[in-house]
Amino acid sequence: MGWVALSLLVGVAFVPESALANPGTAGVRDVAPIAAVGLASAIDAYALATRHNLRLEAERAVRCSNCYRELEADLAFCPWCGTEATTGDDAD
Ligand SMILES: [Zn+2]
Repeated sequence: MGWVALSLLVGVAFVPESALANPGTAGVRDVAPIAAVGLASAIDAYALATRHNLRLEAERAVRCSNCYRELEADLAFCPWCGTEATTGDDAD
């Protein structure tokens, strides 16, 4: 379920109609459920972005062509299996 749909659902279910009709005069407690959903969606977006960045970083990492363990970029040999390390530049 998308966050927009969830906030609509929460708005209908938990926020008094008077607060929806006239948000300017609504009390903090009246709109708190929608604010909570908004906060949760922001946290979710942050977590997604963090995971995405970690995946990009992992893809950029130099890996051993034999054992696929992550290697320091400046190593000439894989410390795990001893295979000569190759950089992405001389692949192909
Ligand atoms: Zn290796």
